Amino acid sequence: VERTLAIVKPDAIHKSEEIEDIILRSGFAILQKRRVHLTPEQASDFYAEHYGKMFFPSLVAYMSSGPVWPYVEGDQAISYWRELIGPTNALKARQTHPDCLRAVYGTDDQRNALHGSDSFSSSEKEISSVGQAAKDY
Ligand code: ATP
Repeated sequence: VERTLAIVKPDAIHKSEEIEDIILRSGFAILQKRRVHLTPEQASDFYAEHYGKMFFPSLVAYMSSGPVWPYVEGDQAISYWRELIGPTNALKARQTHPDCLRAVYGTDDQRNALHGSDSFSSSEKEISSVGQAAKDY
């Protein structure tokens, strides 16, 4: 089974029940579900590939500002979940992909409500790093 890591980010946490309904209705199997409040250090590790970018400090502050719901989803999950959440920038997504989840639940290029792994290797890495963060927490 191909697995992906989906995360309901802090800005969308109040909509998590609605989002979980959509996940299930869209045909994903939820293999694992937990609520985690990332520390700034855990958020930095999770987004290590963006270290040094202008937006990195505020990305870390945002991702550690409140709880998140990581879901491990199965069934051809990686590309289909990315398609369902849509482009990174929620503002632009509202113009180009008005039905995608980031257009509906996100705000801008940072507060975009949802995460999805972008490849098989990142999904496996992210699933174990968030699993570790959940244990630490
Ligand atoms: P994710 O990895 O969360 O699924 P993504 O793959 O669409 O998102 P990335 O380019 O990996 O996007 O960026 C990771 C996250 O960093 C984005 O989801 C967003 O929250 C934030 N981000 C990306 N670009 C910017 C930017 N230009 N300004 C502010 N925040 C940004």
